Amino acid sequence: MTISITLTTALVDLHQLGVARVGPITSRKLALALAGLRGKRKLEDVRIEDLLNYLPMRYEDRSNLTTIRDLRPGLEASLELSVKVAGGFQVGKKRVFGNPKLFKYEVSATDPARTGRPVLVWWFVSGTHARDILNYYNKRFIRGARFITFGRWDWDDRRGTFALQLHKPADELEMLTAQESGSESLQTVEEDEVADDLEGEPDQALARIHVGRTVPVYRKLGDFSSKRLREIIHGVLAAIADKDLSETLPADLRERQGIIERARAFREIHFPPSEAKLAQYAEQRSPAQIRFIFEEFFWLAFRLLMKRGQRVKDEKGAVIRIDQAIKMSIAAVMPFKLTKAQRRVVVTIFKDLQSNAPMNRLLQGDVGSGKTIVALIAMLAVMENGYQTALMAPTEILAEQHARNIKRLLAKTSYRVELLTGSLKASEKRRLRSDLSTGEIDAIIGTHALIQESVAFKRLGLVVIDEQHRFGVLQRAELRTRGLNPDVLVLTATPIPRSLAMTVYGDLDVSVIDELPPGRTPVDTKVFGEDRRQEVKRLIHREVKNGQQVYVVYPLVEESEKMDLMAATKRYEYLREHVFPRLKIGLLHGKMKPTEKEEVMRGFVSGSIQILVSTTVIEVGVDVPNASVMIVEHAERFGLSQLHQLRGRVGRGAEKSYCILLTSDKKTSIAEERLGIMSQTTDGFVIAEKDLELRGPGELLGTRQSGLPELRLASLIRDQDILGRARQEAEFYLSSREKSDATTRMIKQVEADARFELAGVG
Ligand code: ADP
Ligand code: MG
Repeated sequence: MTISITLTTALVDLHQLGVARVGPITSRKLALALAGLRGKRKLEDVRIEDLLNYLPMRYEDRSNLTTIRDLRPGLEASLELSVKVAGGFQVGKKRVFGNPKLFKYEVSATDPARTGRPVLVWWFVSGTHARDILNYYNKRFIRGARFITFGRWDWDDRRGTFALQLHKPADELEMLTAQESGSESLQTVEEDEVADDLEGEPDQALARIHVGRTVPVYRKLGDFSSKRLREIIHGVLAAIADKDLSETLPADLRERQGIIERARAFREIHFPPSEAKLAQYAEQRSPAQIRFIFEEFFWLAFRLLMKRGQRVKDEKGAVIRIDQAIKMSIAAVMPFKLTKAQRRVVVTIFKDLQSNAPMNRLLQGDVGSGKTIVALIAMLAVMENGYQTALMAPTEILAEQHARNIKRLLAKTSYRVELLTGSLKASEKRRLRSDLSTGEIDAIIGTHALIQESVAFKRLGLVVIDEQHRFGVLQRAELRTRGLNPDVLVLTATPIPRSLAMTVYGDLDVSVIDELPPGRTPVDTKVFGEDRRQEVKRLIHREVKNGQQVYVVYPLVEESEKMDLMAATKRYEYLREHVFPRLKIGLLHGKMKPTEKEEVMRGFVSGSIQILVSTTVIEVGVDVPNASVMIVEHAERFGLSQLHQLRGRVGRGAEKSYCILLTSDKKTSIAEERLGIMSQTTDGFVIAEKDLELRGPGELLGTRQSGLPELRLASLIRDQDILGRARQEAEFYLSSREKSDATTRMIKQVEADARFELAGVG
């Protein structure tokens, strides 16, 4: 009796479904392997869909196998071969302590039509079980055994024939003859497994799955070889009806976007049709792959937008009123005329503040684009309404700078602005906390320790989070759990390509300041080796003589902060005593007391310190417009965004500025590439995109913190165009006021999935 297969059928039941050569043990083993991979706790929760989502790592064109005659050195090709002789022998020295013996396993084989001299296929075998492994191979590679192998063929001069080295024989070689058991493993084959092998179709029919066509190549899964997986998945796809490969995207969407049906996509992603172009597959651009990439993005966007829709229902405590009088009093403290971009953003933020849904806005703007003043305007509007505001910065130095500037700008107003950082005396912290809870403090500025150490507000209206988009999401959640629902504005100078930001921060609104304040000249960036230090010294002298100031920054060199400190301190002393004895040099690092830091920063701001030697504590946000030179030591050790941040410390005034990236000779090629990009562009968006490419989105966006799911097939970099289209479609369905039947169905589906996932967790 056979039951019909659907995507939700439990994989442990696969043997009941009439798939060739699959018995109960195979089903269980398969479910077990996939359970581990998908993080499912119960074996019964592993579905047919999980198996079909185990996608090929590549495809091999076996419709026309190469022959020995056609081999050329360097050619990548598949060959069908039959064994002449095979065997393993030890290479290298005797066993050294901790180093197991190394063997070479060599197979001499010829193609069926004997078109040339026998070729060599070989690989290394090592490890404590090397002897057993060699025995296992000897049993399989008997004379006449047929196999297919794929790889890059090279000419072996000494042996006078073509040779192919395999790195992962299990992935790169497949036996065609019946000697092979269902399992590639070295464990003894269980009896049931043998039974599995004997039932079902004869070997001949199975062989047609593996040759004479384009075949999928899978990464080994548990004990399952690529070949075995190909057979099983082929069997499942043959047994399942199109209608049971259930469609998740509406037909009209598919038509608009030219997206193929899910059933066809499942079939073609595993077994490309004969006319398929393999180059397209390699670039993830076959119709089947595009379909799944679209699907992933669509549901991601749909979920995020749904979440955003729910958010609107939250009511915030403070609806802000903004009238002419309030605008006038804000204008009274403005030190300069806003740029067009700044004004545009202010208008948007005012709208948010006046709405009765809480603001969740991400403000992106390149370094030096003037985000702080925009945040201050928002804070003022909120304070004018009698609510408190909080500004959180990533470092104490930055918090201190914000406090200094804001206190100065608001000196003539009646607002009380205070600085609260982790390193204040306990008694001072207590006093500030109490004044916050009674509402005597209007604006509190500090590091994020500010909210970690549960501060109570009397009536908190707005939280600004500076330079911390990674944690912005988290902190918002944290505030929420404490029963606070203020407006939130997150500032970031790590510009993220817009489509990406929309996805990752799907429940945040995004604004961009895409214009720098007037009078800036681009920073002149140079990458120098050690041999150009004299030039650097002359540049520093010249700039200081002209009344400008200089940063010298040291990277995190050692694992320990202490060691870094020593390096920076030593350099500082050396520069002070030997290089620039007549100039005023200051030292700044994270371990200094707040008062000491404050003093040094004040000295640098006032110009009494001409050269500031620093660790990376000044990386983010520090604003001293008179500084015109940024020297970065060991620049090769910094990431792109970090370098961009550092460079952003200069070029803030009208004077021409310089950024010198000093490097040692030991650069990696990635470091070289980074430095090259830095000297070519000052555009933060271009740099962010490159950074994304070089480092991957996880690190840049902190995706784990933001709860972004792993994408299986889709790439946030490669597939931005598809992402944009998917998002548009999600918006289309969710924005229609009268929810269509299709939308209602999709919402139900997402909610059901969420329940399913939660059930899995609980
Ligand atoms: P960031 O966006 O990197 O945080 P800041 O807010 O620190 O940049 O601003 C950089 C510098 O530009 C500051 O010195 C600030 O006073 C100045 N600035 C900001 N906006 C303007 C403007 N509209 N006109 C002139 N200077 C401005
Ligand atoms: Mg800033």
